[in-house]
Amino acid sequence: MDRLYDLPGLGMLAKVARVKRDLAGIRRRLRATAPEVKELRAAALRAVCLHAFRRSPFYRELWSAASLREDDLSALRDPSLLPVVSKEQLRSAWPDGLCADPAALRRAREIRTTGSTGTPVRVALDREKVLFTIALFSRPSMEMHLGLRLERGLHVMVRSPQAIEGQALREFPAAEEVFLDALSPVEVLIEELNRRRPQYVLSYPGIVGAIATEARRRGVAPWQPEQFVFSGESLNPRVVASIRRTFPRAGLAQAYCATEVGGIAVQCHEGKGLHTLEYQTVVEVLDDEDRPAAPGVTGRIVVTDLRNRVTPVIRYAGLADLGAWAEERCTCPLAAYPLLARLEGRAAEAIRVPGGPVVHQFALTSALERLEEVAAFQVRHETATRVRLLVVPEPSAGEARREALRAEAADFLRPLLPGITIEVELVPALGREPGSHKTPAVVSLVPRDGGLE
Ligand SMILES: [Zn+2]
Repeated sequence: MDRLYDLPGLGMLAKVARVKRDLAGIRRRLRATAPEVKELRAAALRAVCLHAFRRSPFYRELWSAASLREDDLSALRDPSLLPVVSKEQLRSAWPDGLCADPAALRRAREIRTTGSTGTPVRVALDREKVLFTIALFSRPSMEMHLGLRLERGLHVMVRSPQAIEGQALREFPAAEEVFLDALSPVEVLIEELNRRRPQYVLSYPGIVGAIATEARRRGVAPWQPEQFVFSGESLNPRVVASIRRTFPRAGLAQAYCATEVGGIAVQCHEGKGLHTLEYQTVVEVLDDEDRPAAPGVTGRIVVTDLRNRVTPVIRYAGLADLGAWAEERCTCPLAAYPLLARLEGRAAEAIRVPGGPVVHQFALTSALERLEEVAAFQVRHETATRVRLLVVPEPSAGEARREALRAEAADFLRPLLPGITIEVELVPALGREPGSHKTPAVVSLVPRDGGLE
C-alpha cells in the first residue's frame, strides 16, 4: 500500500479514501456497546501481540523469558500477562530489535519524542497508522469524539516531519491552509490568530497559555475562537485560569495523546474525566508492583498501541503519566469506553531532595497555585541542591506586588524542598524547551540517579 500512496495523483486519492474509511470505522466504534468494545479490543490485542511475537526480536525475547508461548498470546484477553516495558528498553531495542524487517522500517515514518529531558524515544509507523492518526485528529473526528460542532479551524501544532502532528502536512500539503507552526514566536501566533479568525483552535495548553499571557501583557484583545481543543500535555489549573482570563467565552476541550502511540483518550461529555480510546490504545493504570490500581487510586499509566505493526509498543510505561480510573460510570455518548477520572502531570517531573523524599510535580504545583497575580510559573531543578523558580507576574501586578511575589513564592516551596536553595526570578514569559512546544511546570535537569550523593 505504501507505494500506492506515493504515486502522483492516484496516491492522493488513495490516501483520501483511506482516511474516509478510517473515519467511518471510528464512527462505528463510537457507537459500539461496552461488551463490543471489550471484544474488539481483545481481538486487536491478540493480533498485535502475535505479530510482535513473530516479527519483533525484542518482544519475542522478553515474552519467552517470561515463559509465554504463541498459544498464550492467541488466548490473550487483556495485557496483564505481559511484562511492562520501560522507556529505556524501548529505546535500546530501536530499531532492529523492534522490527526485524529492514524494508518495512525503510518505508515507515520515523517519529520521535521532543522530550525536554533525556534522549528522544523513536517509533516507526507504517502509512496505515499515519493515515489513521491523521483521521483521528481531523475535524470530523474531533466533532464525533467531543460532541462539538467545529467549523473554521486553526491547528497550531509542531510542524516537524518527525513529529506525529507534522504528518498531516506531509501527507496532505493542502492542510497548510489550517496549519500554523506552534514553534513560531508568540507574536506571530497572535497575529495569525487575528488574521485567520478561526472558529476553533487545536493546539497544546502551553502554547495557548503563552498566547493568553502575552496578549494580556501587551493589553491587546486577540481574536476570540469559540472553542479550543487541547492535545499533548495534561492541563494544569494555572494555565487553564490564564487562558480563561484572555478567552473568557471559549469552550475548552481536551484530548490526551503521546508521540509513542498517538491518541489515548478524549474528554468526557459530562466533564467527568477522559474516556480511553480502546479501539486504538489500551490504557492500564498500575501500582508500584505493576498490579492494576483500583478505581480512584492513582497509578502509572501504561499503554499498548493496537495499530503499530512496524515497531510495536506494548505495555509501555515510558509515558510516566499518572492517572486514576473513575469510581462511577458516566452516561455520556462515550460511556462504552473506560473513564479516567484524573490525569496528573508527568511522574518523571519530580525533584529528589538530597537524602530525602521525591517530591512530585503535583505537590509543587499545588503549593504554587496559591500564589495570586501570577500568570505562569516553572520550577527548574538545575543542580541537586538548587532550584530556580521562574514566575510570570500578571501584567496587572504592581511593583510592590512583584517584589512581594519573590519572597512569597520561595516561602511556598521551601517546606517541600528542605536543603535545596530556591532562587526566584520574575520573567515576562516562560521560554520553551528547544524544539518543543511544551512549557512544563516542573523541569528537572538533574540526572535521575546522579549528582545527589
Ligand atoms: Zn463520559
